[in-house]
Amino acid sequence: MVRADVVRALNEEYARLRDENSQIHAKREDEVIAADPGIEPLVRGGSALFQRSARMLLMHPERAEALAKETRAQAAANDQALRARLVKLGYAADYLDPIYRCPVCRDTGYVGSGVRTACACFQQRLAQRLYEASAGSGPEQSFESYDEAVFPNDELVDGAHTQRQLALLVRSLCRDYADSCPDRGKPGLLLMGNTGLGKTFLLNCIRNALVARGFAPVKATGYRMFEAMHGAHFGETEKREEFRELIACDILLIDDLGTEPMMQNITREYLFMLLNERLAEGRRTVMATNLTPGDLLNRYGERLFSRLFDGMTMQTAELKGRDLRLCARRK
Ligand SMILES: [Zn+2]
Repeated sequence: MVRADVVRALNEEYARLRDENSQIHAKREDEVIAADPGIEPLVRGGSALFQRSARMLLMHPERAEALAKETRAQAAANDQALRARLVKLGYAADYLDPIYRCPVCRDTGYVGSGVRTACACFQQRLAQRLYEASAGSGPEQSFESYDEAVFPNDELVDGAHTQRQLALLVRSLCRDYADSCPDRGKPGLLLMGNTGLGKTFLLNCIRNALVARGFAPVKATGYRMFEAMHGAHFGETEKREEFRELIACDILLIDDLGTEPMMQNITREYLFMLLNERLAEGRRTVMATNLTPGDLLNRYGERLFSRLFDGMTMQTAELKGRDLRLCARRK
């Protein structure tokens, strides 16, 4: 998935920013000390204090609380003296404060201790990058370029429509879905049908229509979704973030649902969690699968099946007919 690469690149970007800012900070310290050598103990005071208190803590662990309090008070006094002296030298009082672009996450991109979540600044950049990435891929797959002439028109495939008629019906359903996103209509859409009937093409049409309207849909295959679930289950931080993003993103497109491995306690449970949370929150979710309704019931069980076919939140459509790739080869 493009997403993991984008996250990795963003993490590196944040690390570079932290490096640059700490270099600028070090330069400022040198500059101030050169202007006023007497200020050095105050400039180095903060870190010296914490080193001393760490040593004390090792020797007197029973006094941890008192030591911490003492250290905080000394640090505050040091900081106050430093600021006053900086102002006297003609600098801004905060000239030697740590430099951060984002004060919330201190440019780590994450907030919280223990369970870390992506900071708002990170999420915003991520959405932007994903948008740029998806705008650049497959723009030729659009509702406008959807050519119904490739579908056979010679026999009824569902008792009422030819393959071409059915394909046009499903296209217009997908188009309405994309047009009504994200505020109107049911949040979920499930596209079913055998390989080679154009499901992935339609999924890309929906995605590109949304990208053109300025949204940043996230697209994943069933397999990549499984990797995120599996990693989240076993506590991998990056995968847990990825799975959380799959739950939280505004618009999610899952291609090839049903190609992911079935693993006990993971596949059904996490997929249910994903769909349940997304649909309850009204988040747009499109899935394409080669599986029939019967296959879906067998594979995912009753509970998940009733989520997928819940008429309140889901629309479903099934493409039928001959594999287009085989049709083309026959000509
Ligand atoms: Zn931040």
